[in-house]
Amino acid sequence: MNHTHHIIGLSGGKDSTATLLLALDRLTKDCIQPVFVDTGNEHPATYNYLSYLESYFSIQITRLKPDFTEEIAAKRRFIALDRRTGRDKHGVKLRWSNRRKREALAELKPSGSPFLDLCLLKGMFPSNRSRFCTDFLKTRVFVSFVDEMAQSHKKVIIWQGIRRDESDKRKNAKLFERVGPGFYYFRPLIHWSEKDVFQCIADHGLNPNPLYQSLGRVGCAPCIYSNKKDLRGLFNSDDGPEILQKMRGWEARVSRASKTGQAVFFQGKELAGAHLGEVHPLVFFQRHRIDAIQHWASKSTRFVGEDWQDFEKESSCSSEWGLCE
Ligand code: SF4
Repeated sequence: MNHTHHIIGLSGGKDSTATLLLALDRLTKDCIQPVFVDTGNEHPATYNYLSYLESYFSIQITRLKPDFTEEIAAKRRFIALDRRTGRDKHGVKLRWSNRRKREALAELKPSGSPFLDLCLLKGMFPSNRSRFCTDFLKTRVFVSFVDEMAQSHKKVIIWQGIRRDESDKRKNAKLFERVGPGFYYFRPLIHWSEKDVFQCIADHGLNPNPLYQSLGRVGCAPCIYSNKKDLRGLFNSDDGPEILQKMRGWEARVSRASKTGQAVFFQGKELAGAHLGEVHPLVFFQRHRIDAIQHWASKSTRFVGEDWQDFEKESSCSSEWGLCE
């Protein structure tokens, strides 16, 4: 058993960076472990920012990456052997058609990006109604890692960069919390404002992640919660054309791996009042392909559809571990 181990979940965003700075102010580097969980859908600027933090403080950030190789192999077996009969509650045949089987089996292979692999596995992208990304891509990986650390250390403290003024959900967050024997949460920013956070970063002579110049938050590029302004900033940035190209490829691949043959990244946005089920699926998916979203985001007028407004209110990924902003 070693000394107390301090784990800081990093997203590359301002709050987790300020939390790391406070830990470095108060503790020796040997008992601090900053941890970043790589979804494989991060903005290139975030990878660069993590390297910047590492060289600025001479520290090493532990990078974790989810792996879905086994699940993909199991799904391949399931599809190949699918001989079910009957229909689901919508009257759709349960069994994969031979054509869909062929296309899905050709596509269902580990891609090197956990985000894409998870979507290939699910045959869809996450949305506000089916938000599986944070859980599978961040939380589970981080919790397994913490559990491992808890086996080899007498005391583990997870530093969480969350603030009470962020949301109603967080307004009662405690400064210190015992989760179990030898396992605690410490939240040094709970009384801070956003301004305090940026000030702390500046006081340490550090730059915040440059993404804040064009985006409201740091996270996946894009994130299912990106609002119109974020998307415009993302697609207009130097990396915009590359990200757009990546998303075109991902939508094509996940569509082929899907039982319906259709998948779009921003399915939850429900643009132009078109809800899936209210218009023909072909129309719905055509309106929500990444190029249509990019075109929509480039227009300055504000869309007035109800779902879009509700969606914008959803605001963020909100991982309490500091892994997503
Ligand atoms: S940043 Fe967005 S897309 Fe990425 S895991 Fe969080 S909610 Fe999902």
